Amino acid sequence: MTAINETSYFVLKNKPSAILVIGSTTSTVVDTAIAIGKIYLCEEKSGLPCEQCKNCMLIGKNEHPDFIHFDTSSITSENIKVNDISMLSSFFKLTSNQGGTRIFSLGILENVSLTIKNALLKTIEEPPKNLKVILHTKSKNAVPLTIKSRCQIIDLRKDIKIEIGASMKKFIELDEKLVPFLFKGENIKVSDAAKACQNYEIEDILDRVILWVHDALLVAFGQNPLFFKPHKDEYLNALDSVRSVQCLLEANYNILEMKKYVFNNLNKILFIENIFMEFKNGFK
Ligand SMILES: [Zn+2]
Repeated sequence: MTAINETSYFVLKNKPSAILVIGSTTSTVVDTAIAIGKIYLCEEKSGLPCEQCKNCMLIGKNEHPDFIHFDTSSITSENIKVNDISMLSSFFKLTSNQGGTRIFSLGILENVSLTIKNALLKTIEEPPKNLKVILHTKSKNAVPLTIKSRCQIIDLRKDIKIEIGASMKKFIELDEKLVPFLFKGENIKVSDAAKACQNYEIEDILDRVILWVHDALLVAFGQNPLFFKPHKDEYLNALDSVRSVQCLLEANYNILEMKKYVFNNLNKILFIENIFMEFKNGFK
């Protein structure tokens, strides 16, 4: 039960009808969603979930008929399709299977389209009886004010040191997968690279690629790499195939521009492939 903190229990105790959860780097959206689902539906009603009752068990397996969690934080389930939307709206209209509360949980908001955000807004403006909507985000800034103002906000971010530690760990893991592909330079296999990184946030991938090119430019001008320090020789090799530094610079600019479109993106894998395609263009 580390997914929820004490302050949040205080908010959850009153079972508000719409909640916006700002997630911590140390726990996954699914774990948090399940923890909240149990708090809402536990039969013991003692505040903390008992972990023993039928509701706690079913939610733990994400099999409870009155608890739906859509996870858009990884690629496997991220494309919410039109039939999903109609499925959702029928879930919104349904009455609960057990005559009690129904929970719709969606994470993360950064990865859903404007259409879905608007549908959610309508629902939380006039919530159907007994329906609770739980929305997850990484950053409050990515959530439209209209949605934010109608939700109780739970902030699960721990102290700054823990968050930084967890995010450094995440970047080390991402670098292990991503960096070997980048050193292939113009020979990078776009779809393989995209597949290897698909479970990471697009923003994080963009940041690392931009830093990689930054270092490549430093090396091209006879300096040492700043972020990927131990890789100077590999940079020199990769730069062999760069025909013009201007081209690499332009690619970096285009990759930087892609940051503007991260939040309304629906097809994650296609977006990641585009990052690598742009990267590859830098070597033309
Ligand atoms: Zn329980």
